[in-house]
Amino acid sequence: MKCRHCHAELKHLFLDLGHAPPSNAYLSKEDLLAPETTFPLTLYVCDQCWLVQTEDYAEADKLFSRDYAYFSSTSQTWLHHAARYAEEITKRLGLTKSSFVIEVASNDGYLLKNFIAAGIPCLGVEPTDSTADAAEKIGVPVLREFFGVATATDLAAGGKCADLICGNNVYAHVPDINDFTQGLRIALKEGGTVNLEFPHLMRLIEQNQFDTVYHEHFSYLSLSSVSRIFAWAGLRVFNIEELTTHGGSLRIYGCHDSDPRATEPVVLDLLEREKKFGLLKLNVYQEFQQKADKVKNDFLAFLIEQKRSGKSVAAYGAAAKGNTLMNYAGIKLDLIDFVCDAAPSKQGQFMPGSHIAILHPTELAKRMPDWVIIFPWNIADEVVQQQQQVLSWGGKFVIAVPELKILS
Ligand SMILES: [Zn+2]
Repeated sequence: MKCRHCHAELKHLFLDLGHAPPSNAYLSKEDLLAPETTFPLTLYVCDQCWLVQTEDYAEADKLFSRDYAYFSSTSQTWLHHAARYAEEITKRLGLTKSSFVIEVASNDGYLLKNFIAAGIPCLGVEPTDSTADAAEKIGVPVLREFFGVATATDLAAGGKCADLICGNNVYAHVPDINDFTQGLRIALKEGGTVNLEFPHLMRLIEQNQFDTVYHEHFSYLSLSSVSRIFAWAGLRVFNIEELTTHGGSLRIYGCHDSDPRATEPVVLDLLEREKKFGLLKLNVYQEFQQKADKVKNDFLAFLIEQKRSGKSVAAYGAAAKGNTLMNYAGIKLDLIDFVCDAAPSKQGQFMPGSHIAILHPTELAKRMPDWVIIFPWNIADEVVQQQQQVLSWGGKFVIAVPELKILS
């Protein structure tokens, strides 16, 4: 297998989580009677460009055969993050009614609605019909395509190059990162800015976030690897911000490599910190499996202990993270009774692999579990606040990553 960016031979394993179904392949009651497709969930690191990546799958198109159930607007934390970002970037870049903003993977319009409200012309690029429908309903124009060189070339030909191209949590999810990055350069107006947010590989390693690994998440990115890919495509990372979203993300600012804006010292500083952390050597990558195994084993031991002492355990958040963790740990209905989720699109379905039922959050009050595991640890505070009722019957919240921790 070859590196998706530089085509060097991939020889070094980063993480092997066994076989798992696609993390968003939620199952209906009928599906439970049919065989379930699983794919190896294995990551490699390229020792030339340091891109951490999933291996290629046979029949990869099956991964995306289902309607993607995630709607960005279901998380309040995320909505606030988006609104704040829109306001800040508008000021920072001096965007006006004559500017043009493109968001790649615009989902249900959670971000672009803020630009619409400010009277700034914009366009979402989003291939998934269910979320694109939701975006159009609130007045956000959507081009229903995957983004890459072909789409960008069409946009450019139609005079639709952008002053700002943004992409929140899409860069790590594109199968062909080279094609996507070249597309950014083509669709970017001269003097324009690219903003991408993605989980930072350094934080993933530091915080044992192996549960953020799933098939649809093709690349695990550091500034070191992204700078390289940008340079290859004729772009330059000139600024960055380190964010707390998704357990530690990077927001990078990119421009054409000929742009007069100077590269900020924070960029060089982070490249240096990544180097010191070990991201340009193999050791750090090769030690990660052991760290992941410890978290998984501690979590399993906790669940078995609860079972032995007759306590009941439920989970909150039918997130991809929960699926990765449960599938790697081999957890089924024997250890976790049910999962609650606020998204109506997931309620009544079953978690892939574990086949645990996804129920409305009101089920918590009905069944009063002793423990509630919060799978999306990145919004644990929000969940604890929303579900304070759990404390009233003596229930407690717990997270498994970065390490097993009781929250209340
Ligand atoms: Zn490479």
